[in-house]
Amino acid sequence: MASKVAPKAATGPLNPKTVHREFFGFPGSVVIIATTTIVLYTWNFSCNVKDGCELPLTAERWAHIFAGAMNYQNYLSLEAFKYYVMWWTWLAALYFIIPATNIQGVVLRDGQRLSYLMNGFSSLLVTTLVTLAVYMKAGTEPFLWIADHFFELAVASWIFATSLALFVYIYSFRHSYVERPGKPTVMLGLAGNSGNPVYDFFIGRELNPRIGSLDVKVFCELRPGIMGWILLNVCFAIKQYKDQGSVSVSMWLAIVPQIWYCIETLIFEDKVLTTMDVTTDGFGWMLSFGDLTWVPFMYTVQARYLSFTPVTLSTPYAAFLAGMATCSYLVFRLSNNEKNAFRTNPNDPKVQHLKYITTESGSRLLISGWWGAARHINYTGDWMLGLAQCLATGMNTPMTYFFSGYFLVLLVHRNYRDEHKCHEKYKKDWDKYCEIVPYMFIPYVI
Ligand code: NDP
Repeated sequence: MASKVAPKAATGPLNPKTVHREFFGFPGSVVIIATTTIVLYTWNFSCNVKDGCELPLTAERWAHIFAGAMNYQNYLSLEAFKYYVMWWTWLAALYFIIPATNIQGVVLRDGQRLSYLMNGFSSLLVTTLVTLAVYMKAGTEPFLWIADHFFELAVASWIFATSLALFVYIYSFRHSYVERPGKPTVMLGLAGNSGNPVYDFFIGRELNPRIGSLDVKVFCELRPGIMGWILLNVCFAIKQYKDQGSVSVSMWLAIVPQIWYCIETLIFEDKVLTTMDVTTDGFGWMLSFGDLTWVPFMYTVQARYLSFTPVTLSTPYAAFLAGMATCSYLVFRLSNNEKNAFRTNPNDPKVQHLKYITTESGSRLLISGWWGAARHINYTGDWMLGLAQCLATGMNTPMTYFFSGYFLVLLVHRNYRDEHKCHEKYKKDWDKYCEIVPYMFIPYVI
C-alpha cells in the first residue's frame, strides 16, 4: 500500500542509470558471491564435531574441505529444504495473520511512502509459544535435529535465498522503470540500475519488491534470519546440555547477548525503516543471502563450537565479559536512541539540551552527546558487543572469532559508505562536522 504525500523530491528521471557501481561492479559481485559461499562451506567443514575447529592453513585441510563440498549428497537434503520453506512460510503467514501496527516508511524519490505491517515481536512471541508446545510434545529431539543438520539447513537457506533473489530480479521487469503518464513504474535502487544483469541481481534491482502487501526486503531483514538466529542458538545450547550435561557459562555469555540483540531488533522493528538497507539499497542477492543465510548460520559459529567443545572460563573473566557486553550494548543502544529521538523530534526533552549545527539542507547534525564523541560510536558499541560474545569461546581457535572479524570489515566499509553519502548530502557542512568531531569510532583514538 502506498500513499502520495509529497511532490517528487528530486528532479530528473525517477530511475537514473547507475554510473557508480558499488563493490567493484560485475567482478566484485562474482567474487563476493563465490567468497561468501566458500566461507560458509569452509566454516562448516573446518569446524565441526568430527574435525574439531581449525583454520584451514594446510593443503590437506583444503583437500578435506573440497572433498566434503564435492560429497553433496551429504548436505543437499530435501527434508532440510522442506523444513526451511515451512519456517519461511510460517513466518510469512504470521505477518498477515497477527494484528499489526501500520507504519509509514520514509518519503521515496517519487514522493510516495509505503506502509509496513509491524508485528515482528508478536510473531516472535507466537513462534516461541509454538516452539514450547513442540518441546512439550516431542522433547528435545526436534531441536537436536536442527543442531545436527545445521549445514543441510544452511545450504537449503542458500538455495532459497538465491532463488528469491533471482525471482525478485525477474519480477522487477514487470513494469517499466521509465515514468510514463498513467502507467505503473517500478522504483529501482539507485545502485541497481546498471543494466549488467549479474551486478544488478547481486546488488538488488528493485528498491522495495512486494508480493501483495508482503514487503520482501523488510520481511527478510527481520523475520526468518533474525528469528532463525535465536532458534539456532537455543538448539546449540540444548545440544550442549544433552552432550555435556549442562549449559556452560561460556555458552550463556555467547548466546544471551545475541538473543537479546535479536529480541530488541524486533521490539524496535520500525527503526529498520530508516536504515540504509531499506531506504537506499535494492533487494538482491546481497541482502537475500545476507539476511537469510549469513546472519543465522554464520553468526552462530560461537554457539555451534561450544555445543561440541567444553570451554571453562574463570569467574573474573566471565564477569569481565558480562560487563563488557553490558557496557557495549549501552553505547550501541543509547547512541542509536539519541539520534533517533533527535531525528524524530529535536524538541524532545531527552535531546533538547544537545548542541547541533544546522546544515544548508535544513537537516541538523548533533555535535554533542554520543554523536559529539565520535561520528560512528554506535558501530563501536555494536562491534564490542560482538567481540565479547566471541571472547566467551576462549582462545583455542580463531574460527570462533569470525563474527568479530567480519563485522569489523562490514562496519568499517559501511562507515565509509555512510560518510560518502553524508558528504554528498551535506557538502561543506559535513566537513565542518568532521572538524568539530574528528574521531570516527573511538574518541581521541581513531
Ligand atoms: P546510523 O544509525 O549510523 O546512521 C547514519 C546516518 O545518521 C547518516 O547517514 C545521517 O543520516 C545520520 N547522522 C550522521 N551523523 C549524524 C549526527 N551527528 N546527527 C544526526 N544525524 C546524523 O546507520 P546504520 O543504519 O548504518 O546503523 C544503525 C545501527 O545498526 C548501528 O548501530 C549499526 O551498528 C547497526 N548495524 C548492524 C548490522 C548487523 O549486521 N548486526 C548491520 C548494519 C548496521 P541523515 O543525516 O541523512 O539522516
